[in-house]
Amino acid sequence: MSWLTGRRRGGEPEASLAAELLAHFPGAALWLDADGVIREAAPGLAACLGHAPEAVVGRRLTVLDEAPLDGELARGLARVAAHGTPWRGLVRCRHAEGHGRYLDVLIRPARPERGRPRLLAVMQDVDPLVAPARQDARRLRVLEDSLGRLPGAVFRLRQDARGRLRFDHLAGEVAALCDLDAEALVAAPRRLLTGAFEADREALSASLARSAVALAPWHEAFRWGAGERWLEVRARAWRDTEGETVWDGWLEDITERKRDEARLRRLITTDTLTGLLNRRGFMASGRAVLAHAARFRRPVAVTMLDLDHFKALNDAHGHAAGDIALQEFARLCRDCLRPYDLVARVGGEEFAAMLADGDAEEARQVFERLRRTVADAEIVLGGETLHVTVSLGLAFVPPGGDLDEGLTRADRALYRAKQSGRNRLVGPAAAGE
Ligand code: GH3
Ligand code: MG
Ligand code: MG
Repeated sequence: MSWLTGRRRGGEPEASLAAELLAHFPGAALWLDADGVIREAAPGLAACLGHAPEAVVGRRLTVLDEAPLDGELARGLARVAAHGTPWRGLVRCRHAEGHGRYLDVLIRPARPERGRPRLLAVMQDVDPLVAPARQDARRLRVLEDSLGRLPGAVFRLRQDARGRLRFDHLAGEVAALCDLDAEALVAAPRRLLTGAFEADREALSASLARSAVALAPWHEAFRWGAGERWLEVRARAWRDTEGETVWDGWLEDITERKRDEARLRRLITTDTLTGLLNRRGFMASGRAVLAHAARFRRPVAVTMLDLDHFKALNDAHGHAAGDIALQEFARLCRDCLRPYDLVARVGGEEFAAMLADGDAEEARQVFERLRRTVADAEIVLGGETLHVTVSLGLAFVPPGGDLDEGLTRADRALYRAKQSGRNRLVGPAAAGE
């Protein structure tokens, strides 16, 4: 019986079930000899792999494999030969036009013919089923590989009605960010909050809670662990159909950026000649000191300082000598004040200072000591010894008072110090005045 025609019934040629099946079989059936050489091939081979049966008869089955020498077909034939049992596998075969297709291949020992052992190979084209899944798997691999190389971590975090957190996924440089690998963090998601530096922990949890309520972006910079590392989380919040809050976001190490910001902040708040604060730095830090003092209902001492007859010093010794005198004066200020007091160069040879704490009398003593130290100091410069004196105007900013207004009053007191002979401290007798 041939492959195609069945028995005739009632004189009419009619395809047998086997023939019908073979005619529409989306694959191929082949007889092989014991060495795997194709002896006969059903025409379906042309439909699924583009080869005319006569083109492959006499060649090994492995020629159909995309990897003829060491592919799956070679492995399958070897297994059938070794064990005498059927082998089945998914094989990427080469179409006659050159592209690859996935075939489901069954190779099994069959009844011998004329005493010669035979194998039957049935190959079914499953490319339409397998290829998309394979492609999805490939895409997923690429995606995972790419995510694993990101300089940060991406995540989907969700929170149920009872406030429990859970990661749907977490990928990227998790271990480098958190000293915890992704699995450990997925197993204990709350550690994303509890692992934050103690001082930042509350703010981080609060920002997550706010985001959950308002479905506003979750965006927070916080220190991690012992506090040397800065992380930033940015995520978009949404509510799923179950009512759970979901965040899709990104976690990043921003230590470098924070360091740059601090350097820049220092740069724009520092006077380059003396290394003291500049006016901008003084105003920013000064307002912070005032806000702190206001909480304790404490007035704060501020002074304006102006070097005396400085123009004359410049004229006599040159501008460069004047600059050195300014630097020396800055050094004396730093020495006389405590590290947390503020002192700034706010103009050419004008300075401002603020004491972080202490009462009116202490303030008076501190600045009087500074005045005296400056007056007594000798600035030795290329064999010459210079002397400078400073006039100071003292004022107090009351709790909740305005810094600009306080400085204006200090400036008025400074004017009086100049008027009354220079090299002196003028200010109110008491903090309330
Ligand atoms: P007074 O006692 O009234 O303050 O007299 P003064 O000469 O110090 O007067 P004033 O404060 O008005 O003059 C400031 C002088 O300081 C003018 C300028 O020559 C000098 N000066 C300002 N900035 C600098 C600077 O950066 N370097 C140097 N070397 N001199 C400066
Ligand atoms: Mg001046
Ligand atoms: Mg002056």
